[in-house]
Amino acid sequence: MSGTLSLPPAFEERMACQLGDDYPAFVESLSSATARTLRLHPIKASTYTIPDATRIGWHSFGMRLSEEKSVTWDPLFHAGVYYVQEASSMFLAALFQSIQPTLEAAVILDLCAAPGGKSTLLAELIQPEDLLISNEVIRSRAPILDENLQKWGYPNVCVTSMDPKDVGEYLQDTVDVVVVDAPCSGEGMFRKDPAAILEWSTANGALCAGRQKRILHDVWDSLKPGGYLIYSTCTFNPEENEAIVQWMHESFGVEAPECIVNIPDGVVTLSVSGIPTYAFLPHRIAGEGFFITLVRKPDTINTIRSTVRSKSKKKTSTSTPSTPLPEPLHQWMERKGYKIQITKEGCTAYPEAWSYVIEKLPTNKTVRCGLPIGTLKGKDWMPAHAWALYIEADSIHYPTYELTYTDAIRYLRKEEITAPEEKGWHIVTYLGHALGFIKSMGNRCNNYYPSEWRIRHAIPEYSTLFLLEKV
Ligand code: SAM
Repeated sequence: MSGTLSLPPAFEERMACQLGDDYPAFVESLSSATARTLRLHPIKASTYTIPDATRIGWHSFGMRLSEEKSVTWDPLFHAGVYYVQEASSMFLAALFQSIQPTLEAAVILDLCAAPGGKSTLLAELIQPEDLLISNEVIRSRAPILDENLQKWGYPNVCVTSMDPKDVGEYLQDTVDVVVVDAPCSGEGMFRKDPAAILEWSTANGALCAGRQKRILHDVWDSLKPGGYLIYSTCTFNPEENEAIVQWMHESFGVEAPECIVNIPDGVVTLSVSGIPTYAFLPHRIAGEGFFITLVRKPDTINTIRSTVRSKSKKKTSTSTPSTPLPEPLHQWMERKGYKIQITKEGCTAYPEAWSYVIEKLPTNKTVRCGLPIGTLKGKDWMPAHAWALYIEADSIHYPTYELTYTDAIRYLRKEEITAPEEKGWHIVTYLGHALGFIKSMGNRCNNYYPSEWRIRHAIPEYSTLFLLEKV
């Protein structure tokens, strides 16, 4: 987007005061064009390139496109080969990696996770022995989070829809790293989404700050003593940024972690009671407004603990199925040390070592635990869509069937496609990347693409499409 934005006078006044001599450059930057940025999948995208794209300095898989283009019609987007994510927020990786050497078989909680930009990033960063709990309180936003994480293809992920208060109670002293990408006044997105300007007011900023404190207070007890909390917003408002860090320091005694972070050129760092904060400002870096900080919970028992009621653990519904799994799947589970959970939605598999955490999650707030693997329909095993997108899906051999671009789009629209002669389940691929399952009857096939994920709108002009190219 480009052109002059009409900004609220109170916002202009505050920013002029905050930025001093930098203010004219800041205002000018808000009128410059934004670019679409992507994060390539570290495994699925290893052989791809994007012509005319530039690398994002602070993330090796981050790419900035030369133009805004729609990715909906690129089958590789649906295969999880890349994710559309704002450049500045990829800096989360640098903070997470700075503490990663101190983590071992860790539980990582992404509290405000939909639509999944930070969760997909965390999923690729964590170790196979770690567990990511990706949570979104607004239930209607949990399906898009689950979809994006399934496309990203990592197995050690749970998707939940808990209120932060429930998180603090069910997961007391369980989590090693909490990520709070807080709902905020969104000032940093004014350039990309000018509609956000209309919702801006000083009072709304104060309201957001109150909500952020509530969220942090509620989730605090889930964090183990000595654990880490990463707090971020996409606003420039000090009330929602530095003041929140100061409040965490005064209320919970948070401290600066001992770690080294490589700070990209142009990022503004401040120290709030000794805790470093990182601000991305659009006139200083090529990205949108973003604020992030990393704090450590003291090792000693914390003050708000006494107010917490510990919720009783639910009875687990995990089991070894009495109905046999297909033998290759059974062997895969044994090899991985995975356990199975059976719900009415189907079977999921997760590392057995995480049973004690998964048993703490309330069933009615859990969207899925681990990797969906399939459902037993009568005597037939029906593989789950997530299995096709799983990064190690080739550990169980399903025949693959390569689609043309036209058939790939028809598949993603859940329309009929040409069938392979060989009967049975096939994983359909485009440029070698799995899109999902079909079942062939020889002369025709059933399309098992999830109905809720299908592309519903009409194809636009070719010139606006983005298609990834092989190296
Ligand atoms: N982390 C996400 C990503 O990278 O794609 C973006 C998160 S967005 C900035 C903030 C999220 O907080 C939204 O998904 C919103 O639904 C959720 N949210 C809103 N109110 C909340 C509350 N009171 N407690 C927790 N989360 C809330």
